[in-house]
Amino acid sequence: MKIQICPNCNSDRNIKSGIVNNRQRYKCKECQYFFSVNKIGKKIDDYYVNKSLQLYLEGLSYREIERILGISHVSIMNWVKKYNIKRPYNSNYHPTYKILNGIELGEYFTNTINIKGAGVVVTELGDKFMLIKWERFKD
Ligand SMILES: [Zn+2]
Repeated sequence: MKIQICPNCNSDRNIKSGIVNNRQRYKCKECQYFFSVNKIGKKIDDYYVNKSLQLYLEGLSYREIERILGISHVSIMNWVKKYNIKRPYNSNYHPTYKILNGIELGEYFTNTINIKGAGVVVTELGDKFMLIKWERFKD
């Protein structure tokens, strides 16, 4: 993998932070500056394909995934079709999600109220974590 240098502070410590206009966006870990470099065109990282399909299976809508990953909902719809992903329809439960950093995630799990009954799925998301919880629709 090519090392990307932050144009703001010249640090090479950065993380991938979504796709914007078909360009990989990075976030500098030193100064928090966002920048995008490589034109990746039609070839999007497998990471984003896997992550999109994972979130889709967890019950998130195309628009939600688009907002979270910065991937066009059209791309996601195409991948769902291409890989023939089917999710069971369930009208009694719906997913809710939170995006937390490592410390917040640790705190979340120390409170057993948060994980009682439902349980959660945690997936990595750039330098943060996404926590998905299924809840029964309230009557
Ligand atoms: Zn920087």
